[in-house]
Amino acid sequence: MRHLAIVGSGPAGCYLADQLLRLVPDARIDIVERLPVPFGLVRYGVAPDHQATKAVSRLLDRVLARDEVRFFGNVEVGRDVRLDELREMYDVVVIATGAPRDRRLAIPGETLPGVAGSAAFVGWYNDRPDCRDPGLRDVREAVVIGNGNVAIDVARVLAKTPGELAGSDLSPQVHECLLAQPIETIHIVGRRGAADAKFTRAELAELGRLEAARPVVAEPQALEQAEPAGEAAAIVALLRGFAQDERETRMRIVFHFGATPVAFEGSGRLESVRFARAGGETLVLPAQLAVTCIGYEAVDCCTAAAGAGVFANEDARIDDRLFVAGWAGRGPSGTIPTNRSEAQRIAQRIAVDFADRGRGGGEALAALLASRGVRVIDHAGWRRIDSAEVARAGAGRCRHKFASTEAMIDAAATR
Ligand SMILES: Cc1cc2nc3c(=O)[nH]c(=O)nc-3n(C[C@H](O)[C@H](O)[C@H](O)COP(=O)(O)OP(=O)(O)OC[C@H]3O[C@@H](n4cnc5c(N)ncnc54)[C@H](O)[C@@H]3O)c2cc1C
Repeated sequence: MRHLAIVGSGPAGCYLADQLLRLVPDARIDIVERLPVPFGLVRYGVAPDHQATKAVSRLLDRVLARDEVRFFGNVEVGRDVRLDELREMYDVVVIATGAPRDRRLAIPGETLPGVAGSAAFVGWYNDRPDCRDPGLRDVREAVVIGNGNVAIDVARVLAKTPGELAGSDLSPQVHECLLAQPIETIHIVGRRGAADAKFTRAELAELGRLEAARPVVAEPQALEQAEPAGEAAAIVALLRGFAQDERETRMRIVFHFGATPVAFEGSGRLESVRFARAGGETLVLPAQLAVTCIGYEAVDCCTAAAGAGVFANEDARIDDRLFVAGWAGRGPSGTIPTNRSEAQRIAQRIAVDFADRGRGGGEALAALLASRGVRVIDHAGWRRIDSAEVARAGAGRCRHKFASTEAMIDAAATR
């Protein structure tokens, strides 16, 4: 029997297990996950109002349910088991730990209360247990820095009405906190021009259909100069089209392009964000909340170092019998299906080196974790957490997540 361990149960880890079992049907695959619950950013990144996207977790769950796959939830590599121990117990180990750390702007004021990175902010509104309440206070103006879909997610979640959030899994606590903010303006600010924005059409167009917020381009004349081709042309056309929307709404979402953030300002708390523009001009936007959506970096996995924000690899190989998949290896790019196509390629690469070396695999890992008193959550335990979250959802919500690891572990134990 050949034994393989995947560290991380996000899309990259789950798709890789699926693809490997197609190529190596006698493989036994163990997925080790630091949280008691699987699916990584599908659960804790994808916006709570995009349940159609989150539904991919049902497909990923089918992989975890297979007889050849074992889920070791609530087990962190580096805390509960060392990477070298895993490499002793398994023929192959794959790091699929994602890129959980916010890239920083490294400008003054980044640690002021009121300034958050999107990993922390999105984690908070998705109830990720290790993300603290960002302490929103009297937010009238919010500044979202970045020109990708995460920036749009953040703006949309801030702007949606309770009616628009019906059917989401936004928790009552987060929802109440957002509703308590008297938001009037949400600025989305990009360093480059509109033609360089990384928004996708569907996400940008959705901002034009919000009930209480109307998108506006701060300097529409800048759009007139842009004549891009392909996808960028569609994005610029959508931005131009926003000018037709003359509704009176409670909120405005204002796009600014060509503005580089240089400082978060305020005494004791964020009061404004300062940007530099071409020609030495300055833009200062008053703000009580700023969320930076400028990308993510991988972090070390025990003794494996994520040097420049990813694990250095050659065609997914880090070292002898050690591989990497997903955002941990290629950085924060692409969509969930990108991880599926990448998994096909990586599975083929791994299959070449995947020999049976008579190692202990999951039985050895389970024994080691038991000897250390680690409370492992298996697939049945995750399913109990899942059922309990759906059962306590209440009206207008599809799920009410447990926001602490302890509550999840309790739910996993309740039969
Ligand atoms: C805010 C946001 C919104 C997004 N929205 C969309 C969207 O709408 N549509 C779309 O297609 N894509 C979206 N994406 C992109 C998508 O989420 C990623 O492509 C995908 O999740 C990357 O998969 P991954 O498995 O590499 O990483 P992740 O999903 O981050 O999974 C990594 C897993 O590893 C676990 N882990 C980390 N360290 C350890 C350790 N030491 N031991 C054990 N386990 C560990 C983590 O807990 C996590 O479960 C979004 C991304 C973000 C950040």
